[in-house]
Amino acid sequence: MKWQGRRQSDNVEDRRGLSGGKVAIGGGVIGIIILLLNVFGGETGQTVGAALEQMQGGQQTQTEAAAPLSKEDEEMGNFVRVILADTEDIWSKIFEEHGMTYKKPKLVLFKGSVQTACGGASSASGPFYCPGDQKVYMDLGFFEELKNKFGARGGDFAIAYVIAHEIGHHIQTLLGTSAKMRQAQEGKSEAEANKLSVALELQADFYAGVWTHYNQQNLDVDDIDEALSAANAVGDDAIQSKMQGHVVPDSFTHGSSEQRMYWFKKGFKTGDIRQGTTFEEIE
Ligand SMILES: [Zn+2]
Repeated sequence: MKWQGRRQSDNVEDRRGLSGGKVAIGGGVIGIIILLLNVFGGETGQTVGAALEQMQGGQQTQTEAAAPLSKEDEEMGNFVRVILADTEDIWSKIFEEHGMTYKKPKLVLFKGSVQTACGGASSASGPFYCPGDQKVYMDLGFFEELKNKFGARGGDFAIAYVIAHEIGHHIQTLLGTSAKMRQAQEGKSEAEANKLSVALELQADFYAGVWTHYNQQNLDVDDIDEALSAANAVGDDAIQSKMQGHVVPDSFTHGSSEQRMYWFKKGFKTGDIRQGTTFEEIE
């Protein structure tokens, strides 16, 4: 992605130097289970927070003095600021075209663990959006995991896609889709509730595609492949077959690899937010 020298957003809160210390449960089996529950977190920060609290058994992490960021950390921070600025510009314009006003969210970079309006979370949660404070939370270490454990090809646009997906959840919050979906989940069987969750997640992938459509002038040749490879790697079927050796479609909460790539591509091709009809089409 062509990002150097372009506008950077002021809405990134960089808490990486103020890490709450190393979180003992950051990796290993528990980390993977949490990641499995919550790849691209969506809006389940609360559940993860509760799980983390239980596993930590009330253990407090010490806040350490600010540690300086490496050059690479600084550069990644700048990249994220440019991507967030791109989402602000593009979504402001799309909202305006539909007679609405876009409210810019914040993006929090952290290392280790973080407190949010949806509860506490760690890097193992994967990136997520918390509707309670309208912030996206990301530990950039997730992308190493995506590459090393989940076989994504990596690249800067994999990160851009994930940010755009989380911003997609912000769009759904602004449009009231998330609240409607949660209401619709009430009283439903687990399988039915999961289907609604899949529709919400695939719509966030669709919105990531729409954003990419309006960002074409900044794309490098490999960028779409990088996004699709990330979408492929985080499909529920891909994760389940990797983690448990078999696939249980009723338990999908984010959609299969094929679905995630399909909806990203549809958004990218059409650039039309009205065509993100995942709730009508996912049966
Ligand atoms: Zn999501």
